[in-house]
Amino acid sequence: MKYFLFSILSFITLKAMAQSCENKGPNVILFTWDGVRNKEFFEGTDFFHRRKIPILERGKILKKFWSAHAKDGVVLGEKGNYQIASSVAISLPSYQAIMTGHATDCRNNHCGTVKEETVLEKVKRKLNLNPSEVAAFASWEGMMSSVAMDSTQITRAIYPEVREDELFDKEMIRIQQKAMGDLPIWKESRKDEYTFRLGMDYLKKNCPRLMYISLVDSDEYGHANDYPGYVKSIKTYDKYLDQIITTLESMGEYGKQTTLIVTTDHSRGEKTQWTSHGYDDVSNKNVFLYMRGRGVKSTKNKKLGGHHGLIRPTIEYLMGVESPAEILPGINLDVRK
Ligand SMILES: [Zn+2]
Repeated sequence: MKYFLFSILSFITLKAMAQSCENKGPNVILFTWDGVRNKEFFEGTDFFHRRKIPILERGKILKKFWSAHAKDGVVLGEKGNYQIASSVAISLPSYQAIMTGHATDCRNNHCGTVKEETVLEKVKRKLNLNPSEVAAFASWEGMMSSVAMDSTQITRAIYPEVREDELFDKEMIRIQQKAMGDLPIWKESRKDEYTFRLGMDYLKKNCPRLMYISLVDSDEYGHANDYPGYVKSIKTYDKYLDQIITTLESMGEYGKQTTLIVTTDHSRGEKTQWTSHGYDDVSNKNVFLYMRGRGVKSTKNKKLGGHHGLIRPTIEYLMGVESPAEILPGINLDVRK
């Protein structure tokens, strides 16, 4: 009897694990790493900070990305030809510009909630999606002010909230609670490891149509003048990116119908100025963007550029809710046919 029960239970568990996402149409995942410079993204560890990094660990940081994934998509910004859309290289103004498609009047991290419909809200409204199908996971509490005018319209798990709605199963509630008992040394955030685990759990269990995962450890290590910590966080992002890609590849048609977009909100200063970013240095606005998956051509054309204001129209184009005049370069226009 015991064995019989065990078999039934194993069968049910296996069935739940093998459950695949229903193919409902195109999906987009946006993944941001706060305050990562082009120097570390494209080249690797900074010569200026070389003494802080053991010799064998100098050089390329995003090793898995450059060896296995970059070639399968579009990488923008290597020639300094991809910029943020905000007029200042500060997080909240930049995230609001990504979410609205243009610079808003937000000039600092305390400007309040975004004042117009964001891309997450628009896609949800236009496609008549359930709140569970549009989700945002963020380490930094400021993200609450950029993802939506009315954040109750979407599913979200942004520090310091601990979400216990029915969409968040026991494991996801446990991850959020554990994060609250293991806060980083900096304020206003939870550690990225918990945010990322939440996002990945949600992806596998709820098959969102539009999902945003926002990480912040990199920027915090930068402000703390901890170069090894900053490099380590980018190495972790390399692993996370690989995990998202391999997970999508294991998700059948859902994965095939998904476009992944990776970028940062701003760069940071050079040499001793690397700890900050903001109003003065225009180079802080030069950033990178990587796209792959549905509708993205594989191209190494380094001349391709653009700006963050094109992320929103690109998402709207890919999801079929708008036909914008301009989108990011490298999108296969046949994808909508
Ligand atoms: Zn910062």
